[in-house]
Amino acid sequence: MNHVREQLGLYAKKLVQSGLVVGAGGNLSMREGEYMYLSPSGFDLQEIGEDQWVKVHIDSGEIHGDLKPSSEILMHLACFRKRPDIDSVLHAHPSYSVGVSSAGQEIPSMFPDFPAMIKQVRYLEYMIPTTHVLADAVADVVEETDVIVMRNHGVLTVGKSIKEAYFFMQLVEEAAKVFTISSTVGTPRLLSTEECEDLRNLSSEKYRAKLLKDEG
Ligand SMILES: [Zn+2]
Repeated sequence: MNHVREQLGLYAKKLVQSGLVVGAGGNLSMREGEYMYLSPSGFDLQEIGEDQWVKVHIDSGEIHGDLKPSSEILMHLACFRKRPDIDSVLHAHPSYSVGVSSAGQEIPSMFPDFPAMIKQVRYLEYMIPTTHVLADAVADVVEETDVIVMRNHGVLTVGKSIKEAYFFMQLVEEAAKVFTISSTVGTPRLLSTEECEDLRNLSSEKYRAKLLKDEG
């Protein structure tokens, strides 16, 4: 069994089962040496077989095999080229994150894990998916952040492991959801800049590691 493709299969199922993508939306990839394995185009993410992940050479963009890679291939290549420190890229269409950001809002910090785990979120205005324009915009900001919210479209997260990238995705969506619920029943009380700073200073590396471990 190939470890990378096995992990991709596992997290592809998680993305669908947790409602972060619907239908054939979303795509994910992992780095292995000079290559990345990317979800194929047109597949329901839950139904990708272990031998159906598309192998792509990161530097040249050369595609191996017969299957067509996800149409967001340029975005994935941009992330791996710009961030040698990461090995996973997830792109999903989580409804609360898309909903909140498409109203022109930013997703605020309302509970400790969000500012503790995510240093900053970058927002992109709407751009046509699958294009060089979108891939270039992602390339421009991915060196500064692990979480990119694309208004009227979706979210991209990167991680040192696929577990980390998935955790970032879940946290952003949870934050957007909590903000939405709070806005529905009253006026949300956001964590202040100072409270967020305190959380980040709270031996943040240890805190992050602990959360990732506990998350299972
Ligand atoms: Zn998308």
